[in-house]
Amino acid sequence: MAEVLVLVDHVEGEIKKTTYELLTAARALGEPSAVVVGAAGTAGKLADGLSAHGAEKIYVAEHDSTDHLTPEVTVLESLIGSASPAAVLISASADGKEVAGRLAVRTNSGLLGDVVGVSADGVSHSVFGGAYTAEAKSNTEHPVITVRPGSIDIEENAGAGAQESVEVPAANSPQATVTSREPITGGDRPELTEATVVVSGGRGVGSADDFSVVEGLADALGAAVGASRAAVDSGYYPPQFQVGQTGKTVSPQLYIALGISGAIQHRAGMQTSKTIIAVNKDDEAPIFEIADYGIVGDLFTVAPQLQEHVAAR
Ligand code: FAD
Repeated sequence: MAEVLVLVDHVEGEIKKTTYELLTAARALGEPSAVVVGAAGTAGKLADGLSAHGAEKIYVAEHDSTDHLTPEVTVLESLIGSASPAAVLISASADGKEVAGRLAVRTNSGLLGDVVGVSADGVSHSVFGGAYTAEAKSNTEHPVITVRPGSIDIEENAGAGAQESVEVPAANSPQATVTSREPITGGDRPELTEATVVVSGGRGVGSADDFSVVEGLADALGAAVGASRAAVDSGYYPPQFQVGQTGKTVSPQLYIALGISGAIQHRAGMQTSKTIIAVNKDDEAPIFEIADYGIVGDLFTVAPQLQEHVAAR
């Protein structure tokens, strides 16, 4: 059976949940091989989780080079040459999209972006800002596929996890040097694209101070906090928490939208959430078209009530 390369998404020795989703998706296409690119000692911390989720092989590319902005590209390029995989699966995160685009150009591969389903017959992916789901197939060998975090249900299925060291090819005339990497986190809250529950606030929240209402409900639920672009542009919440077409794409089990109208550009980043609850004082707000549960009311009344009920459970 052909190998399917899965680029491992990790931060400081912790595997991101999206990697397990990629390993699950890979099984529809062949035998999953995880590719770990990171500093020395990274693979040792990740190997158990990777094999428990189906990695038959783990390619280990550990390096201390600061000449590479995206060493993942050269490592995957070289593995495509040696392993001739059926496909390469990468998380559709901001970093993952960059790696995928560069890799597809360098290897002349088809690129299937923002995929929400993978099968032997092809992929389904989200297009036109999430307004449509399209079925697609690549005409090239080893297509590069980016998978939207949260869109695949993780299955545990042990793999052999045999480790194999691979070289990180030297950067070709590096024009830039990496001086440091600072992961963006939400403090003690879960990372936005990884969270099972996301509570987002929009312009309806009205001020940066009042975002404490959004944070309060999020903390009661153990959720990440998100924001609409209008909330970000108004300075209510930092830009790294923006959800939508020009922000992050999330697909949690539960998404709660507080004071968000539901513009197409916001929906593009959250409408594949499994359950959507919207709180809006306008009963004609478009967010209600995609909400599983809608509450017409003032968020400053409803959110604290929800918080109280959650805390009491
Ligand atoms: P509004 O549309 O102003 O809605 C506020 C809502 O709050 C209203 O429905 C109102 O009824 C409700 N409300 C007010 N007070 C209360 C209250 N007390 N209680 C309950 N409800 C209340 N937007 C994104 O979000 N993410 C993106 O990534 C993004 N990318 C974009 C890219 C482009 C190229 C463009 C053109 C736009 C993009 N936008 C994006 C902007 C998008 O079009 C909308 O302007 C934005 O999503 C609106 O944010 P909002 O719903 O918070 O604000």
